[in-house]
Amino acid sequence: MAICPECYSDKPRITPLLQAHHCLEDHRQYICSQCGRIICAEVDELGKYRARFPFKTLQIAQYYLRAAEVIHKSTCEIYELKDTFGRTVYRIFKDRTDLETYLEKNPNRQLSKKTAVYVSPQYKTCKPDQLRYLKPEEIQRYLAEKGIK
Ligand SMILES: [Zn+2]
Ligand SMILES: [Zn+2]
Repeated sequence: MAICPECYSDKPRITPLLQAHHCLEDHRQYICSQCGRIICAEVDELGKYRARFPFKTLQIAQYYLRAAEVIHKSTCEIYELKDTFGRTVYRIFKDRTDLETYLEKNPNRQLSKKTAVYVSPQYKTCKPDQLRYLKPEEIQRYLAEKGIK
């Protein structure tokens, strides 16, 4: 399977990575119009969302890049950082300013590469129906396609 031009994944049922039932049932999702992949796009009351979390690999960060784009309504950038334990993590930011604000608030985090390791090629708006809570039958079908009972 080639990389999906809309959601940057070659695995159309890879997400949610963990706690799939909980995520699909309780969180707002982004639905890729090309490959049908569903990506968590829930923003909580503190403004936190899944695509904002640190990721272990660049590839996993790319699985969430499209959700970050639609939340920010913008292209986004992935940076490689060292977390508080010195581990390499990947984080998605809207742009350089967003990254710098984060680094100012978290002085114990450091960039391990000075420039973004991946930047959205472009930003395309999504249709309103692509960003919403799923219907029970959609959740069942997606989980079956994912191989989860
Ligand atoms: Zn979720
Ligand atoms: Zn896709």
